[in-house]
Amino acid sequence: MYCARPALTLLIVFSALVSSSNVPAAESSGPTVAKRRIESIRFLDFDDITPAEGLLLKHARYTHEMYQAYTPKHVLTLNYSTKPSDKAFPGDTIGRYILSTTLLSRALHEPEPETLKRVMAALPGMVNAEGYLGWVLPEDRADETGLANIMWCNGLTEYYLWKRDEAALKMDRNLFGQIILPIREAYYYYYSPEKTDGKIKWVHCTGDTAQAFGIIDPATRGYALFPSPELKQEINELIRLYRKIDHVAIKAQIHAVLFTTRGILRWYELEQNPEHLAFAEDLYRRYRRLAMTEDYENYNWFGRPESTEGCAIVDSFTVAMRLWRLTGKTEYLEDAQLILFNGLLANQKDGDFGINNCVGPNNQIFLKDGGPAPWCCSVWGGKGLARAFQYSYFLRKDGVMVTIPGNSTVTARLPKGSLTLKQTTGYPHENGMRFEVLASESKQARTLAVFAPSWIKRESVIVTVNGRKTKPAMQDGFLVIKRTMKRGDIIEFQFAQVIGSAPLLCPERTPGFHRCMHGPLVLGTDTKTEQKLPLNTPIEALGSARYRAGDVTLAPLCDLTDRRDAANRARSGSIQLLFRD
Ligand SMILES: [Zn+2]
Repeated sequence: MYCARPALTLLIVFSALVSSSNVPAAESSGPTVAKRRIESIRFLDFDDITPAEGLLLKHARYTHEMYQAYTPKHVLTLNYSTKPSDKAFPGDTIGRYILSTTLLSRALHEPEPETLKRVMAALPGMVNAEGYLGWVLPEDRADETGLANIMWCNGLTEYYLWKRDEAALKMDRNLFGQIILPIREAYYYYYSPEKTDGKIKWVHCTGDTAQAFGIIDPATRGYALFPSPELKQEINELIRLYRKIDHVAIKAQIHAVLFTTRGILRWYELEQNPEHLAFAEDLYRRYRRLAMTEDYENYNWFGRPESTEGCAIVDSFTVAMRLWRLTGKTEYLEDAQLILFNGLLANQKDGDFGINNCVGPNNQIFLKDGGPAPWCCSVWGGKGLARAFQYSYFLRKDGVMVTIPGNSTVTARLPKGSLTLKQTTGYPHENGMRFEVLASESKQARTLAVFAPSWIKRESVIVTVNGRKTKPAMQDGFLVIKRTMKRGDIIEFQFAQVIGSAPLLCPERTPGFHRCMHGPLVLGTDTKTEQKLPLNTPIEALGSARYRAGDVTLAPLCDLTDRRDAANRARSGSIQLLFRD
């Protein structure tokens, strides 16, 4: 199982940060529209969103508290070796930890944790003769395991963007000079070989099939720090070679596919080559069709539904969010909510993340906890939670977009003055959202655009401004209010969500079964033996997205898997999610 050995991993971020002011994007309808979208729908800085008590903050704290409890020794020695090994990935756990702790601390507005400071202080004393972690790589760099340093690169880039730490920048620069640039030739001998003279032979050490293409992620993340014509050419070549692979036929590892996809999207935002966006969409759609489980987790490899992996869930979430931003297709934004509220939260194990079984294939109708992967998913999950806060709002030219509802305060820095809103909501368990204008520096009309996924019943939507009904416009899947905002204004969105029997994500995979849902929440029941709940059985609401149907009690999966929720968590170790029609 993949998580048994940490893989090289991933990454995301940079564009979100660097791009908080201006990131390019593109769209299927053409590069011009794409560019417009990139410029008009922008990321917010972590500083401008303050999470408040609620579902996401509760879960984020579990992981943040775990990161705070880590010792430097734990972070620096887990999964580490200075001698060539196929059992250790030097830089992988360390890099993931630096990246996730950095982003989660930023999202929660927490100071740099002591352990992170001590880890960063220890690193210059740990590097090898070439200035990176672990053993010195062969001259051609064709060693999948030693390449785990690319994850360290991701961490260093994000840490530098936060702390402007020159030592981190220096180590990061060295990774580009010693590994990312010199490795280019080796890819002509990798999974889509164009050279067969045998001059380079890769050391394949893990089951993480085709993972080395994941280098596209740190290369694009750090491009703005270390730009060069050589790096640009190399990234374009790597994407070209990656397109030649039949990911399904080789049973590519999904975490690697998805974090590579994120790197491709980041590159598209910079270069706006429509072929790159089309390729990223194709990769994500193939993933969704062939390797997503019924609770929005993942198969670990194409064609091998053996276990899920927290890391891949994080990546599927961030890829879906970026695809929405770049294409405007609301199906991606719906996916992002479904992945976040089901897959990601259900994969969380107290503060850890890890693996579960794959619900859907092979008639697996129960979800069972497969345990944490401390060297891998546990230090990747924090990044997913951090992005969930950051991606909960986007800036438009004239206002703010709400993409993932949650209790928080947001400051939209707009031309002619900023707008600060406080959002209060019990979504997705409860209906409705309330916005209070805390500050508005401009008398210009401002837009508040709230995403209305398909599980919000359109005919049920009522919007009021200071208690008076108003009719919102519907624009690209968003309910839009445009008006002059004044301090103290209250804007409320009331609605009902679709509840009850729902088709499977992939009905042909498990014929004769269905799920039960409350809005975006997959519902389950705590049991080891199959419970009967035929299609369209009437259900009685118990409140907070819990229901009773005959002898069966249904509750949101994310509550049943919450180990700290003594009242609601499943005690049997088994949660039934699919029900016979
Ligand atoms: Zn993992």
